[in-house]
This record gives sequence, structure tokens and C-alpha cells, in this order.
Amino acid sequence: MHMRATKKRTDELIARLIGDDAVPVVGIIGDRKHVSEFEISSKIKQDIQVTRNILYRLHSKNLVSYKRVKDRKKGWYVSYWTVDKKRVKDLIDDFKTKELEKYQERLKAEEEYLNNYYICKNICVRMNFDDAAEFSFKCPECGQVLDHQNNERTIEVLKEKIKELRA
Ligand SMILES: [Zn+2]
Repeated sequence: MHMRATKKRTDELIARLIGDDAVPVVGIIGDRKHVSEFEISSKIKQDIQVTRNILYRLHSKNLVSYKRVKDRKKGWYVSYWTVDKKRVKDLIDDFKTKELEKYQERLKAEEEYLNNYYICKNICVRMNFDDAAEFSFKCPECGQVLDHQNNERTIEVLKEKIKELRA
């Protein structure tokens, strides 16, 4: 359960920072050290140039490190890749902290105006009582009269998110 959650977080982070195509690359390297770029290339079924591009993108954020070793028989260089687990963990922690702050701020704002939110039927705006009163309870975008909104469900969802992030 915990491992799966970590994997999910790692995947999300990699997708967000580097791109969806980098997720399987990190997965293939995994916990191993010095994984050949050719092995990665064959496992993600991409040619070596595409694979290298993804690896360099990961490297630009210091998520992976590599060694270049000359293949004595063939005379060319092959790079071998390792995921920097510590860096990945630090970035996830950092990301979690920021997300947590964001959700806590939103929760505070929602709780401050419990059952005192207003929303436009056309979904242009959603605002608290004070802001809605300033606009005379009319949507500043389309002029519709704003509907009162019970925000208990929103508060529940935010609390769930916070619980999840803290787990
Ligand atoms: Zn509107």
C-alpha cells in the first residue's frame, strides 16, 4: 500500500516535471544502478535518440545521474543511468508541502464562509458572501443572479485531500 502510494507520487512528479514519456523510463531504471541506455531504449520501445532526449530531460532536473563507458569492442560510448532516489524524495516532499499549504489555505477560506458561497449558473464565478455582496449578487461576467451554494461538500473534499497528503 505504502509502496504503491510512493510509486504513484513518483509517477505524478515525473509526469509533471518532465513529461508523461519519462514515467516508464524512471520505472525501468527503478532501484537498479547503471542501467544501459540501450536496455532502456529497448524496454520503452523507442529509438535511442528519443530515449536519450528523455534521459537528458531527467538529468536537467538532477533526477538521474549517468556514467559514460567506452565499449571496447565496438569503440563507442554507452551511458549507464541511475535514478537519484534522494532527489526524487526531496522533490516529492517539497511538492507535498506546497500542495498541503494550498489546500489548507483553501480550506480556511471555505470554513470562514461556511454555507456562504455564491456561484454563477454559467460557472463563470464562485465567490464568498462578501465578494458576492460587492457585486450585488450578480455575476460580474454574465450578469446572472448568483446562486447560493452550500460548500460543505467542498470542505469535505479539501479535508480528504489534506488527509491524503499527510499520510
Ligand atoms: Zn456568469
